[in-house]
Amino acid sequence: MKRVLVAGGGGFIGGWLVKELLSKGYKVSVVDIKPISDWYQVFSAANNTSSDLSLLDNCMQSTVGVDEIYNLAADMGGMGFIEKNKAACMLTVLINTHLLMAAKTNGVSRYFFSSSACVYNADKQSKTLIEPLREEDAYPAMPEDGYGWEKLFSERMCRHFYEDYGLETRVARYHNVYGPNGTWEGGREKAPAALSRKVAEAKFSNSNEINIWGDGEQTRSFTYIKDCIEGTVKLMESDVREPLNIGSNELVSINALAEAIEKIAGIKLNAKYDLSAPKGVRGRNSDNTKIIKLLNWQPKISLNEGLTETYQWIENEVSKKINSKKSEY
Ligand code: NAD
Repeated sequence: MKRVLVAGGGGFIGGWLVKELLSKGYKVSVVDIKPISDWYQVFSAANNTSSDLSLLDNCMQSTVGVDEIYNLAADMGGMGFIEKNKAACMLTVLINTHLLMAAKTNGVSRYFFSSSACVYNADKQSKTLIEPLREEDAYPAMPEDGYGWEKLFSERMCRHFYEDYGLETRVARYHNVYGPNGTWEGGREKAPAALSRKVAEAKFSNSNEINIWGDGEQTRSFTYIKDCIEGTVKLMESDVREPLNIGSNELVSINALAEAIEKIAGIKLNAKYDLSAPKGVRGRNSDNTKIIKLLNWQPKISLNEGLTETYQWIENEVSKKINSKKSEY
């Protein structure tokens, strides 16, 4: 039976990955810095530990007897978080560095690193109708400051751990992953979750306004969590050692994203634009030519299908929160 460690498994993507790996019959250990009571999903069939993986000793302990590591651990969030926490984002380099060192020492055979579309050169993302980003567009390097530099550096460390020590490493560049059981409030949430929360709050408070960051014309593609997990496992099991995009190529503006969520919620809101809020690059999309060629796969779940599931989960969370506040009085 394969023994797998999911680092950061108390988080959004990690939680769904643990579920998938357990369903494949693997022996799964999960480590996250948060107390287990704060994890989005907890599976009793897994071995669950709360531990700080930025420390080498903890990485050493967590990787004894492990065949494969999926590293999903990072101190991160949406634009609102990464624009204001660049040093914290860069300190995540300690997690990847120490996990790679521990993997080498403890004879782990395969290592997955969750990189990001934030590694791409900012000059190639300056228009809304953007050319989809190909893997080679990460160089010459001009990634997102802080978060993107850490990802690009850690990608290269993975590459050199293979070249110098023979550790099989796999790198995915995720493009805006969304879905239920993820961050939807508190400042680290990303656009689909933030907009779903705002729409649900407007619905429950009978408001007719929604606050949108920037002018709403900025574009992105959004990858539903089920596609993300399927692509992640496929990449890990493949012989592809170069970084691959795991991202939908269904490009939408933030305005169109908000309208799609309003339609699912059955309301129509007036947009109020906050032009001073963090906005990120002007446009970003995933070119899937390489992943189709190498893995014969690309994300397939439509934005509308994924958003319907996500909105329903977030509306329910918002409703639970409102009701728990009411019961306090
Ligand atoms: P998340 O914040 O929900 O999960 C990350 C988890 O890592 C959290 O539970 C956090 O507590 C844990 N963590 C942080 N520091 C740790 C430490 N020192 N030791 C142990 N655990 C620690 O984020 P996510 O959306 O699930 O993202 C997972 C990975 O995918 C991250 O590497 C992220 O950068 C990458 N990624 C995500 C997206 C996305 O859209 N969600 C896009 C690109 C890349």
